[in-house]
Amino acid sequence: MKTKICATCKAEETTMYRVQIRKGKVWIFVCESCCKMHKQGEYYRYGGTWKGYRH
Ligand SMILES: [Zn+2]
Repeated sequence: MKTKICATCKAEETTMYRVQIRKGKVWIFVCESCCKMHKQGEYYRYGGTWKGYRH
């Protein structure tokens, strides 16, 4: 099982959300709770879900 570190709260998770939260083309990976928070942002864009495990 693989993990990533959330770009905004540094939590280590096995499911991460690829998003943009600032103007420009920079994609970051954030955890679920940060994703929900960033959704309200003006520059929020969703680019897919990353999973560090297989079903
Ligand atoms: Zn987070």
